[in-house]
Amino acid sequence: MTDNNLGATGMYRSLVPLGEHHLPPLPYTYHALEPLISEKTLRIHHDRHHLSYVEGLNKAELKLMEARQSGNYAEIKHWQRELAFHASGHILHSIFWTIMTPISVGQPGAETRRQLDKAFGGFIPFQEQFTEAAIQVEASGWAILAWNPAWGRLETLTAEKHQNLTAWGSIPILVVDVWEHAYYLDYQNRRADFVRAWWSLVNWEEVECRLFAAMQAGVSISSCAAL
Ligand code: MN
Repeated sequence: MTDNNLGATGMYRSLVPLGEHHLPPLPYTYHALEPLISEKTLRIHHDRHHLSYVEGLNKAELKLMEARQSGNYAEIKHWQRELAFHASGHILHSIFWTIMTPISVGQPGAETRRQLDKAFGGFIPFQEQFTEAAIQVEASGWAILAWNPAWGRLETLTAEKHQNLTAWGSIPILVVDVWEHAYYLDYQNRRADFVRAWWSLVNWEEVECRLFAAMQAGVSISSCAAL
């Protein structure tokens, strides 16, 4: 991968400058997955749908950069939504292409099987749960097998649509709870006062530590084999 950028410490990969995401090529030909997925579907899905996520993500990143430069955050809600929607679309599609192959062996590898056993009681129960989760996603969305590093276990997740203001693959570093229960007794409806005051409580050593841990996690949307 040309955009693989191992830093001097070897800590991070695939650094993409703001607004410079690009559509990854399919790792097989457009007709390679026929008859299960047609060439026509794959062309439209990859060349048009995935491309529009890449373009939307680039635009959102640049608009947010403009907002930072001008200090005008009037459209922050819109562009954060756009960022989440398009980043999630780009990430999930990039993974989707690489986790399919025309020459599937049909069985999980040894470690995958061990982790599926641990989390779901076996491959078959996992496969049934994942299938049902996928079938029952309302309207558009995804079924996702994810590793949750917080408790070191696989879990199935579903994403209706796919954004819900999350960019799949991102690792939380610094979070502020703006549910009313977090501030209502102290600030009532003055959420802005709470958020501004909250900054003086941040444990920056902990943030730094979490950042280092996240940078070492080595999560990538490009094919594992290319790393
Ligand atoms: Mn899609």
